[in-house]
Amino acid sequence: MKFKELGLDHDLLKAITRAGFEEATPIQSETIPLALQGKDVIGQAQTGTGKTAAFGLPVLQAIDKADRDVQTLVISPTRELAVQTQEELYKLGRDKKVKVTAVYGGADIRRQIKQLADHPQIVVGTPGRLLDHINRHTLKLGGLKTLVLDEADEMLDMGFIDDIENIVKTAPDSRQTLLFSATMPAPIMRLTKTFMHDPITVQIKSKELTADTVDQYYVRSKDFEKFDIMTRLFDVQAPELALIFGRTKRRVDELTRGLKARGYKAEGIHGDLTQQKRMSVLRQFKSGELDFLVATDVAARGLDINDVTHVYNYDIPQDPDSYVHRIGRTGRAGKSGVSVTFVVPNEMGYLRTIEDLTKKRMMPLQPPTAEEAFLGQISTGLQNIKEQVAGDDFEKYEPMAESLLEEYTPLQLVSAYLKAVSPDDASSVPVKITPERPLPNRGGHGGGRGGYKGGYKGGHRSNSDHRGYQGHREGGKRPYDRNRRDGKRSSERAGKRNFSKSHD
Ligand code: ADP
Ligand code: MG
Repeated sequence: MKFKELGLDHDLLKAITRAGFEEATPIQSETIPLALQGKDVIGQAQTGTGKTAAFGLPVLQAIDKADRDVQTLVISPTRELAVQTQEELYKLGRDKKVKVTAVYGGADIRRQIKQLADHPQIVVGTPGRLLDHINRHTLKLGGLKTLVLDEADEMLDMGFIDDIENIVKTAPDSRQTLLFSATMPAPIMRLTKTFMHDPITVQIKSKELTADTVDQYYVRSKDFEKFDIMTRLFDVQAPELALIFGRTKRRVDELTRGLKARGYKAEGIHGDLTQQKRMSVLRQFKSGELDFLVATDVAARGLDINDVTHVYNYDIPQDPDSYVHRIGRTGRAGKSGVSVTFVVPNEMGYLRTIEDLTKKRMMPLQPPTAEEAFLGQISTGLQNIKEQVAGDDFEKYEPMAESLLEEYTPLQLVSAYLKAVSPDDASSVPVKITPERPLPNRGGHGGGRGGYKGGYKGGHRSNSDHRGYQGHREGGKRPYDRNRRDGKRSSERAGKRNFSKSHD
């Protein structure tokens, strides 16, 4: 649907065009008119479907510039999301000159106090810091018109319910409440009853929700084998932009170090890093300076990272919801994506629990053989050669090249060149990753289907039909054929790894 048909004003339509949005997404077309009418709305749609603009546009339209109170409060689960949302709202509200401020923990509170004193019309914040400001009376919600609970399922998972309740208590009961979430577990439905007045639920279901474009694989391996297998997979899969998930902060640090040692452009993010560092890593990743981002679940929550081609679950997540969120980073906007989940033998039950939730089977993937890895490496090398031969002017090298040709055969020279510009095999730089204890083996079902049932928070998932059952494995497809998706991937990655030690 066109944005023009949704009742948005001229300034906003201009900003939408400038942002490059052509059509409203389904969640936007269905919720924006309702929110504009002042109704309480519950919006559920998969990650990456534009929920920020779905609440942001109607909220911006309703802003009264003459009113000096905070008119809209957006509660976000993480600092990164709060910043991201603040940026998007600022961008969309620029022509209307709306002031949007973000407040979150781990940043200078005095600066935030100053910004809050400057009468922003919209405040975006994480629960703890918002409460802090409310208690200091540096944030007052007495004139609040709209409350937005963004990524409600994340906030619930992170245990923010009490904080949210305490924040909401300070806002007028007459306010409008909008709640957005990627999933809608039962506790959120209960929550909405206490916070909202006759809310209208908009659920974007089935086809739009299913990331059918993601090929999901799993590799069964011992913990100590994972790293070498993963970097070999890089050689054959040639990911352009990949996210790697590790279970712990130490894991993230060690993986990042190991990847760098093997010549990959990688950085890690987790909760112990400063806000500044996390934002800068994120920027580098988004701009393509980095090819690999290693993260813990919490650090990666809801981050708007587009065009990730591959997701590697170095550790299988304990909570199946986390899996859905991780995989939601790829295969966005109809593009194809690949995910690979490493599973140690006694974690197979967790894999089955995930499959039960997603209603999709992961396809088993054999670790690449040395020969397959080698083919991948020289294919990258060949691409490098093609690009170099096409791109440069070699005249000043030619005399020396001719004397080399007198000394060696062309076959010798070209082979040496190919070797030099091909990445080394994974095993050439030893990397040791501290073993991580596998997830607890529950129930003693020998890792079989259904062997793991407990542990998954509250068992609350309604398991609705929104993920489209796929049921079958695709037989015979070569999961890591580098040319399957498009011919240009290997070339895009070529040269990204610092493969050529002899040139250093
Ligand atoms: P969600 O909250 O559902 O996970 P976001 O609001 O973070 O999704 O949006 C994901 C990305 O899609 C953002 O980069 C956003 O700018 C972009 N986007 C939002 N709406 C549209 C649209 N109508 N057309 C194209 N891109 C859009
Ligand atoms: Mg969002």
